[in-house]
Amino acid sequence: MAEPSLAVDAALNIQSARDSAAEAPTVVLKVNLLGLNHQKLVSFFESIGEKKFRAAQVLKWIHQLGVIDFDAMTNISKGLREKLKRTATLELPEIIQQLDSKDGTRKFLIRESGGSVIETVYIPEGNRGTLCVSSQVGCALDCSFCMTGKQGFSRDLDAFEIIGQVWLAAKSFGQFGEDRPRKITNVVMMGMGEPLLNFDNVVDSMNIMMHDNAYGISKRRVTLSTSGVVPALDRLGDYTDCCLAISLHAANDELRNELVPINKKYPIAMLLESAQRYIEKTPDNRRKITIEYTLIDHVNDRMEHAVELADLLRDVPVKINLIPFNPFNLSNYKRVSNNQLHRFRDYLIEQGYIVTVRTTRGDDIDAACGQLAGQVNDRTRRSERYKAKFEEEQAIKIITPE
Ligand code: SAH
Ligand code: SF4
Repeated sequence: MAEPSLAVDAALNIQSARDSAAEAPTVVLKVNLLGLNHQKLVSFFESIGEKKFRAAQVLKWIHQLGVIDFDAMTNISKGLREKLKRTATLELPEIIQQLDSKDGTRKFLIRESGGSVIETVYIPEGNRGTLCVSSQVGCALDCSFCMTGKQGFSRDLDAFEIIGQVWLAAKSFGQFGEDRPRKITNVVMMGMGEPLLNFDNVVDSMNIMMHDNAYGISKRRVTLSTSGVVPALDRLGDYTDCCLAISLHAANDELRNELVPINKKYPIAMLLESAQRYIEKTPDNRRKITIEYTLIDHVNDRMEHAVELADLLRDVPVKINLIPFNPFNLSNYKRVSNNQLHRFRDYLIEQGYIVTVRTTRGDDIDAACGQLAGQVNDRTRRSERYKAKFEEEQAIKIITPE
């Protein structure tokens, strides 16, 4: 598999250039090893004149044993440990709050550098434990039903901030160490942000999730969810073979343009073709694409929508995940009724589809995966605009008798 761009060499070059400038004060730019995948760790060790095999050792220390203190890495010589301390760091984001639901769901509020707070959610279900990971602070894509979208976009998360969410969750479950029961069995990139708009950092961190010397999670258990950034999806198969989820939400372009504005640029047919190419490119092409469909009352939940969806997906290898819309207070949309949810699901099953319904979890701690908001520093001021618009609409509703 190809490697996304390499930042380590650049960082190290800057450092040695600065070190060699006679008069200049020594500015030591240290590399944070937490976000480096195996390949980049190999490059890092080569660049400091060390053997490649150190990469696997350090990967294991960090991501299997949970050790972020170079001095505790006992199979590394004292000299090399000192060198590592001079050239590298192991920095983590900080958990500022951990909320536990009575159903076992756990939500982490994590402060990233710069002060933004992002959310990561762990959802246990039978033998499986799924961690819902964020890829950006906020999101630029502005889907009409999404709370993250309403917050505007602040910035991409670095690879260490993405894999850091897995590290912190694993630590909180006591998962590190030999023969410890594995609580995190699955990861879904369904937290805040659009993963394909932060391509390199997301690919690098998924690579660490799946690496045998790190978390060793199977490629069938790591899922990237996208609203449809087609050019990036076209490249994805060159870098990873994780599972793919497409946030579809509508089966015709007119309605999808309204719900998922990026559809205006990359319409449904183009998106489904790209998704199919990805599945064909991955070595085990028997895998299915997960279609996510958030059901919103009287918007996309009518039987005619179900019929249209069934027709659209007839020749695509899919399983369908129906998600009841999760209401929040900057949206006039309503959750699908249970009756309609069941009719919609039953119709798709009758048509031969595999259909699952996402149950709402962690209600008591406000932890719906895919609806994470955090306290984002909204650089675009989009949330203020929405608030004003929402209040205006509410006022109109109150004054206008139905
Ligand atoms: N940006 C990516 C991944 C994050 S969103 C994407 O859009 O796929 C993860 C999932 O949660 C998406 O399917 C999204 O449509 C869904 N989602 C967002 N807001 C929601 C809400 N209020 N209720 C239910 N599902 C929501
Ligand atoms: Fe962004 Fe996904 Fe939310 Fe759309 S649904 S605004 S792409 S996070």
